Amino acid sequence: MASRYLTCWRLFGPASAFITVLTMWIVFIGPPGAGKGTQCSKLVETLGIPHLSTGDMLRETRRDSALGKVVASYIDVGRLAPDYLVMPIVTKRLAEPDCRSGCLFDGFPRTVQQAGQLDEFLARNGKRIDVVLHLQVDTEVLLGRLLKRAGLENRVDDNEQTISARLDIYRTQTAPVLEHYQGQGNVVEIDGQQAPELVFDDIMTGLNSRK
Ligand code: ADP
Repeated sequence: MASRYLTCWRLFGPASAFITVLTMWIVFIGPPGAGKGTQCSKLVETLGIPHLSTGDMLRETRRDSALGKVVASYIDVGRLAPDYLVMPIVTKRLAEPDCRSGCLFDGFPRTVQQAGQLDEFLARNGKRIDVVLHLQVDTEVLLGRLLKRAGLENRVDDNEQTISARLDIYRTQTAPVLEHYQGQGNVVEIDGQQAPELVFDDIMTGLNSRK
């Protein structure tokens, strides 16, 4: 468990009891369309924990004309950005003072190689991932949700072809990350097909079970 905690929050938990949530190193894994975005915003708001979303940070780099073009050439077709682009963004953010005692990783690590590099980085600082939240949703449900989102939002990577590429990459490259963490015994399974409030309750229960 996390050796040092920044802050402690008292929340009214799903089991109608006061529970305490502490800042920890949390990895949130789930396929595109699983609802990570919604749950992450709620978690960040509730826990006051830094949110490290590699998808958001990579999209941000698009403002830089030269680097942006390189990043777009991966993201826009649903491919993973290479580690030489992703890892410096992550380690730079982790060096900021608010990430001293924990953060919520969203969309990272996405490959076993990234997971290994993150483990090494944390270990050098005497830390480790405390809990991995795995948000599970069936593929047909994901497809339906992503196609609906494609009609509502303006994300370049939300179109039929790119969606299926992203789901394939999740299956082949990101699902093994789960096995990596299962080996460390810190995965909590969350049913992402419930109503968003129930998903959130399960996440809070899961975090409390690991603190
Ligand atoms: P989603 O979970 O819906 O795919 P994200 O915002 O997490 O959305 O990611 C959008 C895109 O950004 C990914 O399809 C990929 O191209 C790129 N990306 C995000 N995180 C990573 C990462 N850790 N490694 C490589 N590429 C990434």
